Amino acid sequence: MPDYQAILEQIHEGVLSKAPEGCVASYIPGLANVSPDKFGIHLHTAEGGDFAVGDRNESFSIQSITKVLLLAMAVSSQGRKIWKRVGVEASGTPFNSLVQLEYERGIPRNPFINAGALVVCDFLLGLYDDPKADFLKFVRRISGVSTINYDESVARSEREVAYRNVAMLNLMKDFGNIHNNVETIIDFYCAACSVTMSCRELSRTFAMFMRHGRLESGEEILSIGRAKRINALMQTCGFYDESGEFAFRVGLPGKSGVGGGIVAVYPGKYSVAVWSPPLNEKGNSAAGCLALELLTDLTGTSIF
Ligand code: GLU
Repeated sequence: MPDYQAILEQIHEGVLSKAPEGCVASYIPGLANVSPDKFGIHLHTAEGGDFAVGDRNESFSIQSITKVLLLAMAVSSQGRKIWKRVGVEASGTPFNSLVQLEYERGIPRNPFINAGALVVCDFLLGLYDDPKADFLKFVRRISGVSTINYDESVARSEREVAYRNVAMLNLMKDFGNIHNNVETIIDFYCAACSVTMSCRELSRTFAMFMRHGRLESGEEILSIGRAKRINALMQTCGFYDESGEFAFRVGLPGKSGVGGGIVAVYPGKYSVAVWSPPLNEKGNSAAGCLALELLTDLTGTSIF
């Protein structure tokens, strides 16, 4: 096994010595005041080992990383039905783009762009009486942390400026791919994006994808086939129109969020979460991508 702790320390030093790149997301007012200097990594191995550096215990807004958990809840409840309403192809467009939706008649390219995640939220609203409460229960169960919660002030501040997401919902409703009230969906989506977790909690939550759909106790949440498909989507669609570059540089399935978090998974080996708020022009954590590239290079552990 590589000396993960020594390698994480080397990465931390390497990232600190570089001039910071990128900007903290400010289009959601509730995210704008996070310090750009925060940096943490937590790596959790299949054998149960934990290795970490920096601000790994500080909670941050997981934002789009939540889309993987929403999809896992939808797929674990109703298997295949969701795939009639959302595709599985990389979009090649920014996370909040509207153009493809018009051409493709209201069917989003994949569940990890905003339009796709909004359809998943609509789907969950059709399955659960109180999906907001049930989603939190689901996240607490797979993370094993009963205190994980929504950040109401971040959710509220996103709801107040959700013009594009509302536009996508209305367009998809016109095409017949949205069934519930737009305001109700936005409320659920913004709450789900506002979940806060630390790198430690995030890497342990995504250990379920590293364990092919099982919790540490052995309990199955997703079948091997479903876990495979979600990992495949993280590989091809987890970084918006930078998914190819992430595969090229890092070589692991993963998902980013505009809160500066990135989580990545090596099935059967480890799950790792990194947090650094400044984002590159594609909306992914600049230092987070670099740290994960160094991790897979220095440990020789990419899936490719
Ligand atoms: N809540 C964010 C939005 O809808 C998520 C985007 C992201 O993290 O990429 O804009």
